[in-house]
Amino acid sequence: MARIVMKFGGTSMAGIERIRSVAARVKREVAAGNQVAVVVSAMAGETDRLVGFCREASSLYDPKEYDVVVSAGEQITSGLLAIALQAAGVPARSWLGWQLPIETTDAHASARIEHIDTTALDASLAAGEVAVIPGFQGVDGDDRVSTLGRGGSDTSAVAIAAAMKADRCDIYTDVDGVYTTDPRIVPRARKLKKVTYEEMLELASVGAKVLQTRSVGLAMKEGVRVQVLSSFTGEDAPMADTLPGTMIVSEEELGDMERQLITGIAHDKNEAKITLIAVPDKPGAVAAIFAPLATANINVDMIIQNIAHAAGSTDVTFTVPAADLARSIEVLTQSREKIGYETLVHDTRVAKISVVGVGMRSHAGVASTMFTTLGERGINIQAISTSEIKVSVLIEEDYTELAVRVLHTAYGLDAEDVAG
Ligand code: ADP
Ligand code: ASP
Ligand code: MG
Repeated sequence: MARIVMKFGGTSMAGIERIRSVAARVKREVAAGNQVAVVVSAMAGETDRLVGFCREASSLYDPKEYDVVVSAGEQITSGLLAIALQAAGVPARSWLGWQLPIETTDAHASARIEHIDTTALDASLAAGEVAVIPGFQGVDGDDRVSTLGRGGSDTSAVAIAAAMKADRCDIYTDVDGVYTTDPRIVPRARKLKKVTYEEMLELASVGAKVLQTRSVGLAMKEGVRVQVLSSFTGEDAPMADTLPGTMIVSEEELGDMERQLITGIAHDKNEAKITLIAVPDKPGAVAAIFAPLATANINVDMIIQNIAHAAGSTDVTFTVPAADLARSIEVLTQSREKIGYETLVHDTRVAKISVVGVGMRSHAGVASTMFTTLGERGINIQAISTSEIKVSVLIEEDYTELAVRVLHTAYGLDAEDVAG
């Protein structure tokens, strides 16, 4: 007998027919003798719809009430799955975030899980019941409903797996694993049997939305065995314990044989570029730009400072999340005198393309291949940033798909047997 968490994403829960097929899949795992907790997302598109209502109601909505509204999508699917399981003869009940409880911080709309009480959950599983838990939601110290940030059901699933000491956390989605890049953009993308936690963390943080970044960080910290696999397979599909999907593993488990120079490529269209023109070229000038942004909780990603103009001033370019652009402009306009820049220009039609791989640590030339490949296609690089296992460039948004495709080929990642 194993203890497993099965998490189903929005596309897998979109409509009663799909919920029934999720119930059938859960039933197979129960029949195999496993104790099962299921974490569910809202139906595809539902959270966007609920977010839209909040924005329509007021542009300055209270985040606590926003969480009450947007957490509702998962409440519906958890109840529906419990009903479908019962109808299939599987004892089941739903456990809302406040009922377990899943305790979080009070950072509404992007709360962090602090503690999960598993007493009731353990008793329910021991009694042979399937526990159906809505993802994305929890409860803060004041008993207010909270949510974990978009895509947060992955994090709920990993946190529950860690708390109940599950043998595995299976993330069922609309693709059958983690690919070398988004298979919807590059049909020649290859499925990976294994990816290291570290690489998955980088890939997720630079835009590979197949797993929420926080869920990967948590799995790495807690040593949770995470598998990404498809929920769109028939009844004769191999059981999850034969590991048909992609396993997220430690570097030791990956082994040298399977190590690639580049593991994957990701893109992110949700950044915006800001350039401050003619900033005084003197000590403290850069601090004067980034300190007020940090105070406003705005995450700056890529930064470039040009060489000084003859007049002792310089231009500084950086990126922020597109959703924070308006606030960033406001903060920088307020600090204009203190910073001393002349003009501010901004651009949302940019995309960040990143190549990730632990092999980069021991091989030179990864960045130069990237720059040459993009240069040959006439794609201009507007900013660059690197980490030990990642190189990112900022380019014009219209070239996103082309850039991902040519880089995928340049690093030898194309699958040979797939037409594209
Ligand atoms: P869910 O609703 O199940 O949480 P998501 O839409 O959040 O699903 O994530 C799955 C999607 O992630 C896929 O449909 C795919 O388009 C996208 N994706 C992006 N990068 C990758 C990648 N490297 N491998 C697999 N899927 C990826
Ligand atoms: N329903 C939430 C969202 O769309 C959480 C999730 O699906 O992971 O962001
Ligand atoms: Mg998701």
